[in-house]
Amino acid sequence: MACADDVEAFIALGANLGDGAAALRAAALAIDGLALTRVVARSSLYRTAPQHATGPDYWNAVVQVRTAQSPEALLDGLLGIEARMGRQRPIGAVNAPRTLDLDLLLYGSLQRQSERLTLPHPRMAARAFVLAPLAEIWPEGRLAGSSVAELAERRLAEGQRIQRLEPL
Ligand code: AMP
Repeated sequence: MACADDVEAFIALGANLGDGAAALRAAALAIDGLALTRVVARSSLYRTAPQHATGPDYWNAVVQVRTAQSPEALLDGLLGIEARMGRQRPIGAVNAPRTLDLDLLLYGSLQRQSERLTLPHPRMAARAFVLAPLAEIWPEGRLAGSSVAELAERRLAEGQRIQRLEPL
């Protein structure tokens, strides 16, 4: 359930182990089940090549929520879903394959840099697998003065490989 004075936020979902499509669908349902939070839009599902990482292709998607949770409480909820859905974090392994990765991309227009949380997500503007699904559900979106859709086109023109699949 969301409240009248809630905030729009966007969350990126990724997985590249096991049945990633099923994991992303289950995660979207779990996000909708977080307290004071409601999923209001879902991108398509995407299949994407790993970037700065090894392993099989990823499944990715982005959802929009309305939430009355603080950004930190929302992040806690996302980390809890990752943990429940079996995410393992091998010590020392950067960008290791994962059953589920949830990133808080944007929380309204909030800018924050703390030990736990950076908003907007610091790497989102470099990632076609985030920008393309985000542009799908937020066509008027802008990031640091640029349109999200234009940023997505730029990343694709640089050769990042993504394929849009069915609805999430
Ligand atoms: P990773 O599992 O590599 O995506 O990193 C997750 C960690 O990054 C979490 O423990 C968070 O504390 C931290 N973090 C910082 N900013 C964000 C953000 N915007 N979304 C998700 N995690 C974040």
